[in-house]
Amino acid sequence: RENYAEESVDSVCPYCGVGCEVTYHVKDDSILYVEGRNGPANQNRLCVKGRYGTDYSRSPQRLTVPMIRREDAPKGADVQVDPDNPWTHFREASWEEALDKAANGLKTIRDRDGGGALAGFGSAKGTNEEAYLFQKLVRAGFGTNNVDHCTRLCHASSVAAMIENLGTGAVTAPFTDAEKAECMIVIGARPNENHPVASSYMKQAAKKGTKLIVMDPRYNEQLGRYAYANVQFQPGTDVALLNAMLHVIFEEGLEDTQYIQAHVNGVEELREKAKEFPPEKMADHVGVSAETIRDIARTYATAQASIIFWGMGISQHVHGTDNARSLINLSLVTGHMGRPGTGLHPLRGQNNVQGASDVGLIPMVYPDYKPVTNSDFKDYYEDFWGAELDGQAGLTVVEIVNAIHEGRIKGMYIMGENPAMSDPHQSHAREALADLEHLVVQEIFLTETAYQADVILPASSQQEKDGTYTNSNRQVQIGRAAISTPGQARQDWALVQEIANRIGMDWNYTHPRDVFNEMEQVMPSLTNITWERLEREGAVAYPCDDPKSHGNLVIFDEAFYTSDGRGTVRPVDIVPPDEMPDDEYPMILSTGRQLEHWHTGAMTRRSDVLDRIEPEAVCMMHPREMRKQGIQMGDYLRVTTRRGTIEIKVRADRDVPSNMVFIPFCYAEAAANVLTNPQIDPYGKIPEFKYCAAKIERM
Ligand code: SF4
Repeated sequence: RENYAEESVDSVCPYCGVGCEVTYHVKDDSILYVEGRNGPANQNRLCVKGRYGTDYSRSPQRLTVPMIRREDAPKGADVQVDPDNPWTHFREASWEEALDKAANGLKTIRDRDGGGALAGFGSAKGTNEEAYLFQKLVRAGFGTNNVDHCTRLCHASSVAAMIENLGTGAVTAPFTDAEKAECMIVIGARPNENHPVASSYMKQAAKKGTKLIVMDPRYNEQLGRYAYANVQFQPGTDVALLNAMLHVIFEEGLEDTQYIQAHVNGVEELREKAKEFPPEKMADHVGVSAETIRDIARTYATAQASIIFWGMGISQHVHGTDNARSLINLSLVTGHMGRPGTGLHPLRGQNNVQGASDVGLIPMVYPDYKPVTNSDFKDYYEDFWGAELDGQAGLTVVEIVNAIHEGRIKGMYIMGENPAMSDPHQSHAREALADLEHLVVQEIFLTETAYQADVILPASSQQEKDGTYTNSNRQVQIGRAAISTPGQARQDWALVQEIANRIGMDWNYTHPRDVFNEMEQVMPSLTNITWERLEREGAVAYPCDDPKSHGNLVIFDEAFYTSDGRGTVRPVDIVPPDEMPDDEYPMILSTGRQLEHWHTGAMTRRSDVLDRIEPEAVCMMHPREMRKQGIQMGDYLRVTTRRGTIEIKVRADRDVPSNMVFIPFCYAEAAANVLTNPQIDPYGKIPEFKYCAAKIERM
């Protein structure tokens, strides 16, 4: 095949937070095939998405011309647009007309109603440079901190708990440290489906003797084959289970007193709280025997080095921050921190969700997590960016949707996100988008969000752009353009600059490199990480103490990033899910992803191989539950919650608990988020995607 490729370009995978390095082999301005490179997070490995999922870039459905909504085109939650024939709703426009209309609509609202009437959603799929520019535009150009992205829907609660107790929202150790651990817990995550290359490191470690403890309400048959213990617990009982483990650790004296004395605050209060959770008392509630709870607690605590990985099974709950606090508690009282093979690792979902958060694409902090409410940081950025800034924390994703319904937010700029598919209680979110006075969507496809736009700006796919991405391991990696943008589509960073200059800024970036250089000036985390180094070396982890090192992959060997340098543990109580099953809605609905499809499916469902493997919307139920309800494999079900109904085909899956229906959220034709509960965690503001009450009927 090498003989056929005209060019080979080194870049990174566009999908999950593992951050596999790839080589794109290019012919006729299309990607012919993809190979894994020897990157620090993948060592030549790729999963099915990275290897076969790039042809979406050349989909005939790509947006190639700017579009403006026709005056008489309808808006509303039910509006559908045929991506192959959008012209009944939109008309083609010149770039000048589209950019003027996009910017003027935003400027009019800002000047009339103030910056707080505007909001922006950036993207964790874009580069660090795009995310930095986008948040700078919203803060300095719009005059508001109402800027957020999909981290709010995945790990916001994990980040809230980690910043609160450790002083950082990033991982403390890389997933490649699995093989240095004597014990690893994987809880509320299915890395074999969602982070497959990370999962390969975990399996490899388990084969070499690391004791793998898998803990999840959905049984994990595949990863569980490698496990020392494969623990299926009742949905929504995370805190009870983790507190019961903590009880065993304190009761049996397995805490690391020396480490606690040197590094941890709050242990006595935690010890008192843990007394309320003996495993024998919790066993029925969590659905795990006291013996097993005691065994896994001892195994984790007494290992020389233990590490915890988690995913959205932990974070996407109204008690998501408490769940993450419970994991921090376990790690700190046992001293499993700051050494190789120890620590805490929330597996990040999108390829740049870590980087987008680091550069400030969240409403409460400037780049490097500097609070917007701190007047010193505000003064600094006002001076550096040359603009007056808002000193109030902005609204988060779900809060922005609610503020639109309340008439407080009237205009939005959305770059590369699809809230019409990803937000909970979909009709509520779509009605909000339709209610906006002015909506600008910058996208590569006519997504469900773009259906509601007033102006659509055709942008660039990952394979078409230069820029940096930060993976789950805190490794900043460089991606390179391998193919050109189709038609009149343009680079995202350049479009953000066009909007900025039209609303009164004076920006003159000529390349993403210029943006990175500016980021380096305001982000101490990027010390010793330059664009030139990344061009040369491909990847450097932050923090990086030495210009010759590849960065510090394990942090907190001496002190935490808190004011006194110590970590904190916090007593955590049981908070039940917001919506429990009852007579009318007797089942639990949980949502998530599949191996072949990614998030809202905008890319993977337009990827030939991936779409052929999983071409239609399916939900999963345990075969025992199906038999009980007289349901056959392949039947169509009507799934209903208090927010809506979808019709979907059913597949038998022994991993799903008996009283649950699991639905991937990538299928627009049977969208799981029609059903989900928008109730949010009070700290991380993340919705409860993993639990709500539902009923099913056979059609
Ligand atoms: Fe891409 Fe993630 Fe698969 Fe690696 S594991 S190839 S980063 S989707």
